[in-house]
Amino acid sequence: MNYLEKRILKDGIALNSDVLKVDSFLNHQVDPKLMEWIGDQFYQYFAEYEIDKVVTIESSGISPALFTAYFLNVPLLVLKKQNSVLQSNVYSTTVHSFTKGNDYNLTCSKDYIKEGENILIIDDFLANGEASLGACRIVEMANANVCGVGICIEKSYQPGREKLNNLELRVYSLARIESLEKGKIKILEK
Ligand code: 5GP
Repeated sequence: MNYLEKRILKDGIALNSDVLKVDSFLNHQVDPKLMEWIGDQFYQYFAEYEIDKVVTIESSGISPALFTAYFLNVPLLVLKKQNSVLQSNVYSTTVHSFTKGNDYNLTCSKDYIKEGENILIIDDFLANGEASLGACRIVEMANANVCGVGICIEKSYQPGREKLNNLELRVYSLARIESLEKGKIKILEK
């Protein structure tokens, strides 16, 4: 069992069969040593793909994505969640939020993704795949290439992984959850 999987079992809280709370170490209070480990794992896996930029979604993706970008020695680009798109010069796509149940606009300034760039998308969770697919659409709007999607925690019983696989995207998840029940977390064995 790896460092993240152990931490999930120690400090993660399964609220119900759908939602894993990890806000003591990943997305509210953040453990920098764990983030460093996560960044290094993504670096080791994706280093061979000549990544030009790491892209994530505000706000919970930022901590693991920043360490990944640091190790890859490339910039980190944070996609913004906005209720309305008033600015010009942005790429924008609508995403359905897993945790909030509403739609939001994911936006990115056209200045920061260039045609032909190799992009690595990093996010904290993969559930239904909406956030990752939204990020992929933004990259595609810029005519850049999604070289891979790095996920900290994949809930493998939800449809996100299959949706990304169907698009033949390279997906690397550090922890895969087989099932959740209130108070019980089962990690998928490799
Ligand atoms: P998706 O778009 O794949 O359905 O969901 C991914 C996004 O929803 C992630 O960016 C994450 O912020 C949030 N999310 C999905 N499932 C969970 C969960 O079990 N726990 C937490 N804390 N966030 C989740």
